[in-house]
Amino acid sequence: MVLWEEDFTEVYQAIDELKVQGVEDFRTFFTENPDVVAELAKKIVILDVNEHALRVFECPSKEALLTGIDRIFVAETYPLFIEQLTAFAEGVDPFSCEAYVQTFTGKRLHIMFSVKMLHDQGHGLVTMVDISERKQMEEELRTVNQELRRSNSELEQFAYIASHDLQEPLRKIRSFGSLLERSCADQVDDLTSKYVASMVNSAKRMQLLIDDLLTLSRTGATQRAPQRVDCAQLVEDVIQAMAVSLEENNAEVTHDSLPEVTGDRTLLFQALQNLIGNGVKFQRDITPRVHISARRADGEWVFSVRDNGIGIESKYLKDIFIAFKRLHGRSAYPGTGIGLAIVQKIVDYHRGRIWVESTVGEGSTFFFSLPVQSADGSTTPPDVHISQ
Ligand code: ADP
Repeated sequence: MVLWEEDFTEVYQAIDELKVQGVEDFRTFFTENPDVVAELAKKIVILDVNEHALRVFECPSKEALLTGIDRIFVAETYPLFIEQLTAFAEGVDPFSCEAYVQTFTGKRLHIMFSVKMLHDQGHGLVTMVDISERKQMEEELRTVNQELRRSNSELEQFAYIASHDLQEPLRKIRSFGSLLERSCADQVDDLTSKYVASMVNSAKRMQLLIDDLLTLSRTGATQRAPQRVDCAQLVEDVIQAMAVSLEENNAEVTHDSLPEVTGDRTLLFQALQNLIGNGVKFQRDITPRVHISARRADGEWVFSVRDNGIGIESKYLKDIFIAFKRLHGRSAYPGTGIGLAIVQKIVDYHRGRIWVESTVGEGSTFFFSLPVQSADGSTTPPDVHISQ
């Protein structure tokens, strides 16, 4: 860390004079009067610097540094002086801000500059920390993130277009297949009818897969303003919408008192429907029971959807969120393997996390988190960057 002791006495005097002359808005004044800033900057007296300063600024001696200060504080450093002088005028102490300076060999440094006034009149301690490397890493991270977002969006677009365009020829295969099934029913042998039936079934299944793929790529594509969502009511509505299938499966869905959250109601509805639906579907020979609760933890709500079903082997706990990943044959449990990928996407959209805990033969609990409304009543809208 670079440490300098500086004497700002004359600077404070000059600022006091400006106040007497009626200057009030110092930031505007300094921005509009660069000559005054340059003049005041010259009034700063550097009393001492530490040895580390010589290394950071690639300077041969203290003397060279003190006499060649203009080589460090170059034109690009100018906004720093405006900020610093404004802070002095407004009595801000300690003061810090980022700035650009140069070393004696002309290397550009991004620094964090701070001043803390010492109690013996007008003297202050200046610290400068070289944050160039950190800033560069942040910049690289930003670029990589942008690139990732772009390629994700391209991939989504591809999935959307591909599944959309596949629908038309598939529809033809399905309808001509059905026609063939009917018109040839009594003209062909059993084996041939079996082949045709199998073809029609496969086309139907492909239709289901494409529909789900389209749903997956459309999830979160429409950016709607975040709303307050009463989760207890939401769960009630999901139960209502699933009434027929719950009754068919003789399933019980219960919930604790649930919070209000900020988010996209339609998407949250879909996420809960998928999770509850799975809880009911992946069952053993007992009454399927699904229970939803929520608890508050570190600025977020953690929801849980617990079932008493077949459970999931621990080695698969992560894989099941990947699109098309299924652990069972279709004859045992129907489905396309896209439901949890959709839930994952919805949770990502809300800047939450999703995970599962499970015991084979006992049941599974799916957890997902959602940001909590801030204390002042304002909401944290999801950062929407899912494109389509
Ligand atoms: P689908 O339900 O169409 O198979 P999902 O993406 O919803 O697709 O789930 C992926 C796989 O994860 C399922 O095929 C199943 O093997 C497993 N799974 C999901 N939810 C549960 C659950 N509640 N209990 C046991 N296994 C589950």
